[in-house]
Amino acid sequence: MQKTKVYVAGHNGLVGSATLLALKADPRYEILTRSHAELDLEDRAATRAFFLEHRPDHVVMCAAKVGGIMANSNFPVDFLHNNLRIQLNVFDAAHEAGIDRMIFLGSSCIYPRDCPQPIKEEYLLTGPLEATNRPYALAKIAGVESCWAFNRQYGTNYLAVMPTNMYGPGDNYHPENSHVLPALIRRFHEAKVRNDPSVVVWGSGKPKREFMYSQDLGDAVRFLLEMPDERFGELTRPEVTPLVNIGVGTDVTIREVAELVKATVGYQGELKLDATKPDGTPRKLLDVSRLAAMGWKAQTPFDTGLRHAYEDFVARHG
Ligand code: GDP
Repeated sequence: MQKTKVYVAGHNGLVGSATLLALKADPRYEILTRSHAELDLEDRAATRAFFLEHRPDHVVMCAAKVGGIMANSNFPVDFLHNNLRIQLNVFDAAHEAGIDRMIFLGSSCIYPRDCPQPIKEEYLLTGPLEATNRPYALAKIAGVESCWAFNRQYGTNYLAVMPTNMYGPGDNYHPENSHVLPALIRRFHEAKVRNDPSVVVWGSGKPKREFMYSQDLGDAVRFLLEMPDERFGELTRPEVTPLVNIGVGTDVTIREVAELVKATVGYQGELKLDATKPDGTPRKLLDVSRLAAMGWKAQTPFDTGLRHAYEDFVARHG
């Protein structure tokens, strides 16, 4: 049996490792990976050489410079320029190597800050972006446009998928630069170990976020890769923005998340809000009806995923 060769770019990240796990179990795939040290996707010549040598059938593009609200405001150049460079190199090399099907991973922050909820794919570029992650969002919007441009000009099947906030095994638990869920897992765990009387949660606690377990995203990527050409091609027709949301369809407030993490960790102290820290977007719940209509739904309940994530944190860092 001829195997389908899939290059998972960025396989050591949260999204990439979940994709790898989902695909690795399937004997129909031959998976190709390169660590950042082996292949720097910001190096145009090296990226081109890699694609031309290996010529994968499909590419799942998870490689990106990512981070939470603080990292985004401290390193705007990195979030904009590194991501644009990586994307230009990967798209150009993939096209030159004749890759037909690519899944480009973005994030729900590409949508306008104040758009109606839940967020439909067609709300892209209908209003101003949230300032705290605008550089990253603009790079990712450029990626959506690259998918579309290649599909229009060259008849490729490049699809951009926008996952909601992700969490899961192998997450980045940096105390300042990570996203809210891993940050809170670390903070509550450390407070429990030290017997601290209270834990600080940033902002007003009022913003709402939707959280998806990373392995559900891996499953969604596998679902899309397995789609027959005809159905996948419907999503990447030159006439349509090649964009699909991936989420769970429900959200919770940051205070609720904090309470849930507190309970999962088993911390007994008090929870304090620090209003001097930014809230970011008030709400970003994705409308996931497009993917649901195709037959895919996230399976992991939030409390189950959170328990697994906490176990993973303890195993790696506890
Ligand atoms: P965002 O979804 O792009 O805004 O990124 P984050 O995951 O970093 O932040 C989500 C929300 O959680 C924001 O309202 C933050 O202020 C809030 N938050 C509360 N505590 C923390 C924390 O310790 N770290 C982070 N990153 N966010 C926190």
